[in-house]
Amino acid sequence: MIDPAADLPFFYGSISRAEAEEHLKLAGMMDGLFLLRQCLRSLGGYVLSLVWQLDFHHYAVEKQLNGTYCISGGKPHCGPAELCQYYSQDADGLVCMLRKPCLRSPETPIRTGVFDSLRENMLREYVRQTWHLEGNAMEQAIISQAPQLEKLIATTAHEKMPWYHGKITRTESERRLYSGAQPDGKFLVRERDESGTFALSVIYGKTAYHYQILLDKSGKYSMPEGTKFDTVWQLVEYLKLKPDGLVTILREACLNPNSTMGRVCTLFLLPTLSSTASSCLCIPLGTSKLDDSSSTNRHTMPMDTSVYESPYSDPEALKEKKLFLKRDQLMIDEVELGSGNFGCVKRGVYKMRKKQIDVAIKVLKSENEKGVKDEMMKEAEIMHQLDNPYIVRMIGLCQAENLMLVMEMAPAGPLNKYLSAKKEQITVENVVELMHQVSLGMVYLEENNFVHRDLAARNVLLVNQHYAKISDFGLSKALGANDNYYKARTAGKWPLKWYAPECINFHKFSSKSDVWSFGVTMWEAFSYGGKPYKKMKGPEVISFIESGNRMDCPPGCPDVMYALMKDCWTYQHENRPGFVKVEEQMRNYYYSISKKTSSEAANAAAEPEK
Ligand code: AMP
Repeated sequence: MIDPAADLPFFYGSISRAEAEEHLKLAGMMDGLFLLRQCLRSLGGYVLSLVWQLDFHHYAVEKQLNGTYCISGGKPHCGPAELCQYYSQDADGLVCMLRKPCLRSPETPIRTGVFDSLRENMLREYVRQTWHLEGNAMEQAIISQAPQLEKLIATTAHEKMPWYHGKITRTESERRLYSGAQPDGKFLVRERDESGTFALSVIYGKTAYHYQILLDKSGKYSMPEGTKFDTVWQLVEYLKLKPDGLVTILREACLNPNSTMGRVCTLFLLPTLSSTASSCLCIPLGTSKLDDSSSTNRHTMPMDTSVYESPYSDPEALKEKKLFLKRDQLMIDEVELGSGNFGCVKRGVYKMRKKQIDVAIKVLKSENEKGVKDEMMKEAEIMHQLDNPYIVRMIGLCQAENLMLVMEMAPAGPLNKYLSAKKEQITVENVVELMHQVSLGMVYLEENNFVHRDLAARNVLLVNQHYAKISDFGLSKALGANDNYYKARTAGKWPLKWYAPECINFHKFSSKSDVWSFGVTMWEAFSYGGKPYKKMKGPEVISFIESGNRMDCPPGCPDVMYALMKDCWTYQHENRPGFVKVEEQMRNYYYSISKKTSSEAANAAAEPEK
């Protein structure tokens, strides 16, 4: 995850106090010289190191539960940059104001922390083993689901560790520790009682010591007075490096005799830990798709569904992939999913060699209307080139009683209808999650030089409440390698309310004009399926926009999201953000609110400390 301080030229990452002082010495030791570094004690926190009268002063910057940052006893700030800016205008309790940033030289990259890499590795391995994903599919899974995955790992990862013994008594823990060799640092973790808290039992000098692992109100684990961590396994990894108040560092795991690890685990090394402290983390190999969300009581993630990866990601299926499908492998249901001027969309099943998949079939009404058939062929040609988890994939075409376009099935239907029907159940966080997925799909289109030209909530289909896919490529175009826009010769039946000024005025379509449409789609989503520009007609909307007006913030829509919509509606396309930027902003906001929700949940669940 990107550190919020990563853009600051005076941020050094995970360096020690001594290294910070060395940098400040080299930079001249003038009063007010400062730098920012990552705090090794509290995850997400920083330390501000400041020079005053040839002396060093280090101030811990804590990340609060509500996501703000503050120096103990000081005012809260929304980010590390804002905090530093504040103290550069007002000392407000520091020895002096921040006067001169100690800038990182080009040869000094930001140092990543041990736990940053640990967490990243853990996420990767978890996704790899649970869903058998690799490469791009794995990256997209991590980006789109990081908050859920972190929560999942945070709450369950320790259960997979060989040193975790579940709910056993203190006496039983001693019996297990004393059985066999008793080297210093042999340890186990057990669940204490009904409170859901844990205890660490460790051998030192042939004696067992027991420590309660504290769980604070923000859901962080620690030894009394010790460093706080998001997960029990991180705490254990840390205690393998530093005693942090314990009689000894942790060394050898006392293995849980009932653990199934031997049967199901894969061992892997975490390369970022020092070689002496390299550790093994074990994660059970995944269960089959769709059934593992129920065991952990979480909502289904995109990777749990059968439409996350293409049915052709299996090399054997790929060998048999053809543009035209055989009619006898396609079963068409009479149930209609929707319709358009081309005909209707029906539900069906496509029989592949190893499996059957649910499909949606666009059935062309009449073969005689050549124009419509050409349009469908063009749509198929575009879809044939696309393969992304957040885009409806085409399975193939079928020429039989009618021309049919066979696609992946998105059973929960169009986003606008879904949101207006389920307003009460769908949180703003859920809407942000879905729109973030749409932005991921759009980054893919932008990177591959496709313009969608009809991005709207009606064309975002849901697989389920937490999984969106972009559909309807009827107006889409593949740009030439050296072009960054498509110029339409004549205007057609266009969705004007979704179109950027340059589309209407100059018939120019680019990823930047798709960004404009993304803004309108966001507006529709945050107004739970509301109709954009109320009762205005197309031409009225054009003069509304040309006069500098924009739609109002939908009720309950977060300010950050409305600000992003307005960015998407920047008049000049040159000044409008691209999808890379849009996705980054969606992602940052999504992660920030998901974090808050999880700590609030932990807060509510936490028992008072004993
Ligand atoms: P379209 O003309 O592509 O917008 O499709 C018309 C309607 O058919 C959509 O609004 C959906 O309700 C339904 N539909 C289209 N494609 C799919 C799909 N892949 N999965 C489920 N429903 C679909």
